[in-house]
Amino acid sequence: MLKNVALSVPNALRALRTLVARNAMRRIAISSRPAFALIVAVALRWGGSAATAAPVGHVVQISVDGLRGDLLQALIESDRAGDYANFARLRREGASTFNARTDYTHTITLPNHISMLTGRPVTQPAGQPDTVHHGYRANAMPAPDATLHNSGNPHLSYIASTFDVAHDNGLSTALYASKPKFVIFEHSYNAAAGAPDRTGADNGRDKIDLYLNRSSGTPGTAAPMQAALLAGLRNHHFNYTFVHYRDPDSAGHRSGWGSPAWNRAVKAVDGYLGELLATIESDPLLHGDTVVIVTSDHGGSGRSHGTPSLPADYTIPFLVWGPGVKAGADLYDLVPPTRFDPGSGRPDYNTARPPLRNGGSGNLALKLLGLGPIPGSTINAAQDLRVNDRAPAPRGEH
Ligand SMILES: [Zn+2]
Repeated sequence: MLKNVALSVPNALRALRTLVARNAMRRIAISSRPAFALIVAVALRWGGSAATAAPVGHVVQISVDGLRGDLLQALIESDRAGDYANFARLRREGASTFNARTDYTHTITLPNHISMLTGRPVTQPAGQPDTVHHGYRANAMPAPDATLHNSGNPHLSYIASTFDVAHDNGLSTALYASKPKFVIFEHSYNAAAGAPDRTGADNGRDKIDLYLNRSSGTPGTAAPMQAALLAGLRNHHFNYTFVHYRDPDSAGHRSGWGSPAWNRAVKAVDGYLGELLATIESDPLLHGDTVVIVTSDHGGSGRSHGTPSLPADYTIPFLVWGPGVKAGADLYDLVPPTRFDPGSGRPDYNTARPPLRNGGSGNLALKLLGLGPIPGSTINAAQDLRVNDRAPAPRGEH
C-alpha cells in the first residue's frame, strides 16, 4: 500500500525548514512558542548548520548489472558522440570512483545485490562471527518458497534490508528490477515474510510498497521496466527506490565485456539515466531533493564474470549525484581516513584499509535519507562514507 509521502520525516522537516526561513524573514519571534521552538531546534540541527549535510526526501539507488568500472571510465573519456553524456554528467556534477569493489568472495548477481540491500558480506569473513554474512550464494531463479531468511545464513532468523529501515520509519519504498530472479526480494520482504514494524507507528510487514519486475528481448533489456519506473516516480514520489538495469550483463554474456554490443548496452543505460534525471528535474517534489546512487554488482571479461579474484570482475563504478554531493569529486578524496583506494588490489573484509564497496551503498542511501544503518549490517555500518567535505549529518535525533 502506498502511504502519504508528504507525512514522511524528511519531508516534514523540510517543510519546517521552509517555515523557519519564512518566519525568520518576517522577523517573527518564534522563541515565544516553546513547542514550536523545540521542533525548530531539531530542524535546524538537521539542516541549518553548515557543518552537516541535510537529509534529502528521495534516494534512487541504482545497480547496473555487469558495469565494469574501468570500461565505463574509458567509454566516458573517449566519448565523442555524447553516447555516455549522462554518466559523464553524474561524474562532473557528482562524486564518483571507477575503482569500487564488489563483495570479496562473490562476483555474481544475486549475492552482490543482497549485499547492496543488506550491508552484509556474502560469506563469513575469516575470524568474524557467523552472524555477519547474509549467506545467500545462489544466482539462479529462486524456488517459490525461498526467502533470504530461510535460504541464507542459517545463523540468522531474519535478514533486514534497506527496505525495512526506510519502511519502518514511515517512508515509501519501491523496487524496480529487470531479471526474474529478483523476486527473491519480494518473497523476503512481503506481508508474509517481512518483519513486524517495531519502529514508531506500525507501517506493516510488507516493506516494499511497489515491486515491479520487467524485461524483454535477447539480449535482455530493462526498457519495459524503465517506462514503469519513470511513471512510478512521477506518480508516487517514492522516498527510497532501488533500481536494477540488466542490459550490460545480458550483452556481455552474449557478445563479451567491452564488445561493441556491450558498449551499446551501456549507452542504453546512459539513456535510462538521462530520462531519470529529466524526470527528477521536471518534478517539483523530486527536483533538488533527490540523490541518485549508481553502482554495479560485478564487472566481467570475455563472456563471464564469476572469478572473484579477477580485477575485471571485481572492479565496479560508484557514482553519487544530487543536492549536498560535491561536484566533480573523487569519492576516495572525500572519505579518508575511513576508505582507501585499493589500486588494483582485492582487500578482504578484515583489511585495515577498506575500499568503497557496492555493499556500502544501502547504508549510504539510508544516511542520505536521514536514517540509521541496516540492523546487522557491517559494510558502511558506521555510515561514514561521505559524499562531500562536510561531516556526516547527525542521526538519531528524529
Ligand atoms: Zn551475469
